[in-house]
Amino acid sequence: MSTLGPKILTVKCPKCSRVEKYTITDDDLKEIKQIGIARVGFLHGDHSLIINFDLTGFIRGAYVVPSDEIPSDVRTYYRDFKIISVPKIKSEIELIVIDEKNRIIDTRLADITGSGIIKIMNYMETYGDAVKGIARRIGISGRSYNILVKNSLIIIFTKLSSRQVESCIEYFSEGIKDPYSLQIVLQYIMDKTPDALKNEETRRRMNILINANKVKIKAKKGTNAIRFARASIIALWPELESVFDAIIRDPQKCLKQGYC
Ligand SMILES: [Zn+2]
Repeated sequence: MSTLGPKILTVKCPKCSRVEKYTITDDDLKEIKQIGIARVGFLHGDHSLIINFDLTGFIRGAYVVPSDEIPSDVRTYYRDFKIISVPKIKSEIELIVIDEKNRIIDTRLADITGSGIIKIMNYMETYGDAVKGIARRIGISGRSYNILVKNSLIIIFTKLSSRQVESCIEYFSEGIKDPYSLQIVLQYIMDKTPDALKNEETRRRMNILINANKVKIKAKKGTNAIRFARASIIALWPELESVFDAIIRDPQKCLKQGYC
């Protein structure tokens, strides 16, 4: 058993001389157990510092890479914000959540690299107070994003209105639990009007969809493929929900397919 207490590493960037103080986490210990070292990155601007260290806290290597080329398996930080970037969910709707309370930047639903994150954080440091409560846009890598600031969350997104994002904020205000399911919810609300967003039936469907991936995991194990199919149907063709249910309840089909 390890008797190590919290271990703090201090490392100076060879490029910009910034000093990073880093406390070894449980995730690092897990990685060290698996591959012998832990790898952690720090966004500094156009460049990032990556360090490799072992169980004793000895730094085996420290090197600098362009911020757009940080390997996806390196746990990366911007100041004291932890960046969550994997698994990457590809979608036409992008959403980045910056959680100031819990010090997390979640980019799993966005096609954005380290330099894009730097751009957002610099923008928020300069204009942070000014954008509160006002619709703003920010350009990152040639694309335009909307900004919504709500309580301690900064949400950067495409293809959706602020109302649409606000309508599902409860699903990520305490962190995105499941990015796949959230992406399905975002697709579902993309064409919803402000009135439709308040509609009870819309809310009910959103609540089914936010749990879609739980069903998907079960479906992979072969026990609940129908529920996953149902969640997918509601996401893509909500008007077919009752038709789907009618087919599944058809005793002939159930027996033949072995669903019930
Ligand atoms: Zn540096």
